[in-house]
Amino acid sequence: MARLGLLGGTFDPIHIGHLALARTAIDALHLDQLLFIPSGQPWQKTRTITPAKHRLQMLNLALAPWLNACNNDQALMGIDALETRREGPSYTIDTLIEIRQRDANEVKSNNSLVLILGSDQFRNLATWHRWDELLNYCHIAVTQRESINLSDLPGPVEQLLQRHGCQTLPDKTAGSIVFFSMPPVAVSSTALRRSLQLHEDVTTLVPPTVLQYIQQNKLYNS
Ligand code: ATP
Repeated sequence: MARLGLLGGTFDPIHIGHLALARTAIDALHLDQLLFIPSGQPWQKTRTITPAKHRLQMLNLALAPWLNACNNDQALMGIDALETRREGPSYTIDTLIEIRQRDANEVKSNNSLVLILGSDQFRNLATWHRWDELLNYCHIAVTQRESINLSDLPGPVEQLLQRHGCQTLPDKTAGSIVFFSMPPVAVSSTALRRSLQLHEDVTTLVPPTVLQYIQQNKLYNS
């Protein structure tokens, strides 16, 4: 059974926190592959989102060292743009069902899927569309994000954790919640966009090729 990590996000833009999260998750959870899944229409974000083609291009640039190493199917990290091709709000439950249906036709039907979440997203989980069905399709692996703690969770999330929490991922395709730790990386796309608007130095926060793309395409200027 292969173990496939799924890292969803807006990636507007991708930054070193996302990359650190991906690398840490691969090691800590013994993933065979991790897929970045850029959201098409992130329905919980009220601001204007950068068009998917730019966010995808930046992901491609950031992951080039991994993608160039071998083809997308075999690379340790890859990109799955399925949400950007779908109409309407990008609900994770739809993504999981689509991946399961797609893989059912191949040998991957018994893959273990692991949805990777920072603590901000996990705390928010009970606001997601059909959130209580997610564990039918995947495991959830959570890490602490900077100061957003994992204690005093909202009631429904705490109850879910009581029922499904495990020390380590079991050899099953779905159904468990685990935690893993990563050194804090103090960056968010929101802070990054603000710094870019103010023409502050962000060279340590994004890969150089991504920064070049942002400048060439005049993204995040206003
Ligand atoms: P924004 O500030 O625009 O909301 P973001 O920086 O939170 O964006 P997302 O694309 O929304 O980035 O995040 C995708 C996933 O990556 C989420 O699960 C989020 O918790 C996680 N993540 C983002 N930044 C970090 C970080 N610095 N450390 C750990 N996890 C992170």
